Amino acid sequence: MKYRKMNTTNWEVSALGFGAMRLPIKESWENIDYEQATEMIRYAIDNGVNYVDTAWPYHVEKSEKFVGTALKDGYREKVKLVTKSPIWLLEQYEDLEKYLDIQLNNLQTTYLDVYLLHGLNQDNWEKIKKFDLIKGMEDLKRKGKINAIGFSFHGSYDTFREIIDYYSWDLAQIQYNYLDINYQATYKGLEYAYSKDIPIIIMEPLRGGKLAESNKEIERILENAPSKRTLVDWALQYIWNHPAVCVILSGMSNLQHVKENIASANNSEPNSLTEGELKFIETLRDYFKGKIRVPCTNCKYCMPCPQGVNIPENFNLINHVAWAGAMEDWLQVWYNEMDDDKKETDWHGKGKSSLCIKCGECVEKCPQGIDIPSELEMVKSVFEEGRSIKEFL
Ligand code: SF4
Ligand code: SF4
Repeated sequence: MKYRKMNTTNWEVSALGFGAMRLPIKESWENIDYEQATEMIRYAIDNGVNYVDTAWPYHVEKSEKFVGTALKDGYREKVKLVTKSPIWLLEQYEDLEKYLDIQLNNLQTTYLDVYLLHGLNQDNWEKIKKFDLIKGMEDLKRKGKINAIGFSFHGSYDTFREIIDYYSWDLAQIQYNYLDINYQATYKGLEYAYSKDIPIIIMEPLRGGKLAESNKEIERILENAPSKRTLVDWALQYIWNHPAVCVILSGMSNLQHVKENIASANNSEPNSLTEGELKFIETLRDYFKGKIRVPCTNCKYCMPCPQGVNIPENFNLINHVAWAGAMEDWLQVWYNEMDDDKKETDWHGKGKSSLCIKCGECVEKCPQGIDIPSELEMVKSVFEEGRSIKEFL
């Protein structure tokens, strides 16, 4: 495993971190497959991964408990353990510690190595300031409940800059991949944090798995690459190439993913890609740009929908249609099998796009800023009204 120095804490952290957001499941999202997921996380740690990231809402609030259990038998002590304050639930200053105590209990530990303010943007940043939550984080640090203070981010570049300038953070976590160089914190934001010596942790390196999906055209593109790498390796190496990056968090869903990502991490080095390789990544970027219609990362923060719409599944299907360039029979069948009446309004909702009544409840929950109701309207017109995806590309 390759390690990178986190200057603010003096830690040597593994280039690859284990993200506990897309763990293997049994049938439903909250039913984590403990056996398989424990094998994965322990394999990763046995092979050098020393950074584990979870959060309150992951896997319908079941991820932290799983991580706590998986890190028994001495594994907790081998890693930097990270979780995030669910700031949307905080109604007063005291709630910060109240929720942290629940999280420590779930994680079966007495302290966190890193505590992040979760998913900052302009709106919730105002709340952080109003409730004086940075002072709250410092109090938690003084009490020995957390060791490092940071934030994860899903807002705009200007907000990112404002937050970076506001406090001397131990680290910041941003969404970044070769498609998102002008999105959210952006490449400029990454450079700005670097200029301020703030270590950066990367999430969504594969854009919710989309940058790992190959097809015949991509295989042809890869044949002409200046060096032989897998699609996933190209995406990861692009990120590790930047010296500001300490850790890439990969939401791995099976042991094979873990092994492949570890192999990539073992080959990573800042500033190691050649000009030709960087140029090749631009070719991949151009290809993918035209193929992803809705930038949904399947994080499920928008769920459940009160009407039972399975929002990420509808976007997953339309992205498959965009990927193919036209409707395919199996996609139409898959869509038709979804519910067209309001059966379940919990995390299991399987509803089609046409169940959406545009109440707007989901919109502000989406870290990607997707206009969910209008995109669902587009999904409906392709799957239920026979319009061509080409009209929307
Ligand atoms: S806007 Fe549509 S998808 Fe969103 S919560 Fe309301 S009904 Fe559900
Ligand atoms: S629509 Fe937004 S909140 Fe919902 S799963 Fe996709 S990215 Fe996440």
